[in-house]
Amino acid sequence: MFLYVSTSRQFVQRNWAVGHCRRCVRSEALRVGEILKSVKFHSAIPLHRSKESEGAFCDHCGTPSVPYPDSYHLDIGYWTYADGLPALFEACLPDSEITSQPYSTEPEVRRLVLSISRATSFLRMDLNQGFPALFGGAGGMILGGVIAACLGEGPTAAALIVSTGLVVGGVGGLLLAGLRSSWRSARELVFNNVMKYGIDPVHVLDAAEGQPRRIRLAAQQAAYLVSHRSPTHNDDDKPTA
Ligand SMILES: [Zn+2]
Repeated sequence: MFLYVSTSRQFVQRNWAVGHCRRCVRSEALRVGEILKSVKFHSAIPLHRSKESEGAFCDHCGTPSVPYPDSYHLDIGYWTYADGLPALFEACLPDSEITSQPYSTEPEVRRLVLSISRATSFLRMDLNQGFPALFGGAGGMILGGVIAACLGEGPTAAALIVSTGLVVGGVGGLLLAGLRSSWRSARELVFNNVMKYGIDPVHVLDAAEGQPRRIRLAAQQAAYLVSHRSPTHNDDDKPTA
């Protein structure tokens, strides 16, 4: 039996700031935080964790970026997408002429929706998940056992049916988990971007035409949620930076 340790790195966000993203070619919200290095035994049992460095990444595309020198670093709980990007710029750069840039024109909104569609494609989802395969495989085995018992098969044929159920159930579990992640990511990304950039949901609905069903439904849900948001929503209970 092999004994091994593995190392992995994880970004933990601590603050919000604003800066220029060279990939987006625009001023954006930046996630600021620490990169932690973890050493684990057999990729599961934590042995050691330490702070390796600090970093800032574009909230829109994830590219490493540098905050503007005079940008305040706000506590992570100070701002949410529901507050809109202009509020973050006002809080981080209160005396600056640098402001957020909206996605307001039809081509801009179409490009944004297309990028969400690509980012949430089933092929981009992380299928390296243990539980869906485990539960799917277990379900397939049980179903295979029931089928074998109903058919009155002998031990050899029953074992073949059960093992087939294990494989089919495991793969099916992974595929369902990937589909679920794809649809959930689309729903969250469309709504968060509508709120963050203050996009008119009508424009998102138009841009979603011709896109996959998950994008069209996500646009419809975002439009519904925006139109039913409480007009009395306020930020009186916001924590201070
Ligand atoms: Zn970016």
